[in-house]
Amino acid sequence: MYREDFPLPDVTYLDSACMSLRPEKVIEKVNRYYREYPGCSGRSSHSISQKASKELEQARRKVANFIDASRGELMFTSGTTEGINTVARGLDVERVFLTEREHNSNRAVWQELGVETVNMEGLDTDFLESELREGDLLSVLHVSNLDGKVFDVEEACRIADEQGAYSLIDAAQSIPHRPFSVQSIEPDFVAFSGHKMLGPSGTGGLYVAKKVQEDLSPLKYGGGAVENSSFSGNERKSFPQGFEPGLKNIAGFTGLGAAVEYLEDIGMEKIQRHEEKLTDEIVRGLEEADVKVFCEGPGIVSVAFNSVTHGEAAQYLDRRDIKVRAGRHCVHPWFNDRNFDGTVRASLHLYNTEEDVEKFVKEVRKLSRL
Ligand code: PMP
Repeated sequence: MYREDFPLPDVTYLDSACMSLRPEKVIEKVNRYYREYPGCSGRSSHSISQKASKELEQARRKVANFIDASRGELMFTSGTTEGINTVARGLDVERVFLTEREHNSNRAVWQELGVETVNMEGLDTDFLESELREGDLLSVLHVSNLDGKVFDVEEACRIADEQGAYSLIDAAQSIPHRPFSVQSIEPDFVAFSGHKMLGPSGTGGLYVAKKVQEDLSPLKYGGGAVENSSFSGNERKSFPQGFEPGLKNIAGFTGLGAAVEYLEDIGMEKIQRHEEKLTDEIVRGLEEADVKVFCEGPGIVSVAFNSVTHGEAAQYLDRRDIKVRAGRHCVHPWFNDRNFDGTVRASLHLYNTEEDVEKFVKEVRKLSRL
C-alpha cells in the first residue's frame, strides 16, 4: 500500500516497530524548513523566525488533533523514552504499576529512581480495583512491541481514575498504527514516538491532560520556558512551553506534522485493516514451519527458531534484503523469565506488501529446515 511514496531501495523492510520509513512529503517538509525559514522559533521577531514559530505551532495543533487532544496538552519530545522520563522525574508517585511486557524505557527509569514497582502479568481489572490507590501511577503499554498484544487501556485508565491514581500510556506501538483518542481513553499522560509514525528521527510527543499539568515538573529548565527571571529565581511558563526549554527540533516537529497529515489522508482504520491482513498471512504461512511464533495482535510477529539463533536468522534474512530485528527487543525481563534469549521480529506498516510477506514466510520456512 502506497509503497511508491517511500524512497528506499528495493528491500523488504520489516522493522517498523523500531523505526518507520518516511514518505517524500515528510522529507520535503523537513527540507523546506532548512531552505525557506531556517530561523529560531519563539525568539527573534524577524519574519523568518515568525514563520518558523507559526509552522511549529501548526505542527503541534495537527499532532494534538491526531490523538483528539488540544494544542495546550501536547509537548514535543525526542520520543517515548523522553516522555516517560519526563513523567517519572517530574511527578511525585509512591508506586508504579507495570505489566511484564513493558519496554525498558518504561522500567529502567523507575528502577533508577527507586520507585516501588508492582509487576503484573497483564491488566487484571479486579487486581487494579483492589490494589491501586491515591499516589500510585498505572504506567502501561497499549500495544506490545514484542508480539502486538493489545491491552485494554481504556478500562484500566477508568479504574486508575476512580481509585485516585494517575495513568500513563506508552503508545509507541499504537498511535502509529490504529485510531487513538485521548477523549475516549481518558489517560493522564500518553507518550509516543514520531519516528515510528512516519516522522523524522528523534521526534515524539507527551500528552498531559489539563487536570494534571500542575502536578508535573519539567525534565529540563532553561531559555524559552521562562516568563521572567531574577538573580534569585524564575517564573516558568505554563505547559507545554514551560516544559520545552532550549531551541526545539523545528525541522523534525514540522516533519512530524506532515507525517500526521499523511496518515490522516489515508485513514488509520484502513492502515489497521491492512496490517491485520498481512499479519494473518504471516501467521498462516508459518503454521507448518518448525518455529515458535509469538503474535497476539496486528503488526508484529516474533519468531523463535530451533535450527539457528535469532542473530544468525537475522543475518541470513538481511543477506536476502529482508530487514528485521533480532534479540530481546528491550523487554529483557519477559525473555529472562522464560529462559530464552530472543526472537526475530517482523513488524509492519502501511507500506508493506503481500510480496514482503511472501518473501519473509518463504525464507523463514527455509531457515527452519536448516
Ligand atoms: N515503548 C515501546 C513499546 C517501544 O516499542 C519503544 C521503541 N521500541 C519505546 C517505548 C521507546 O521508544 P523511543 O526509542 O522512540 O523512545
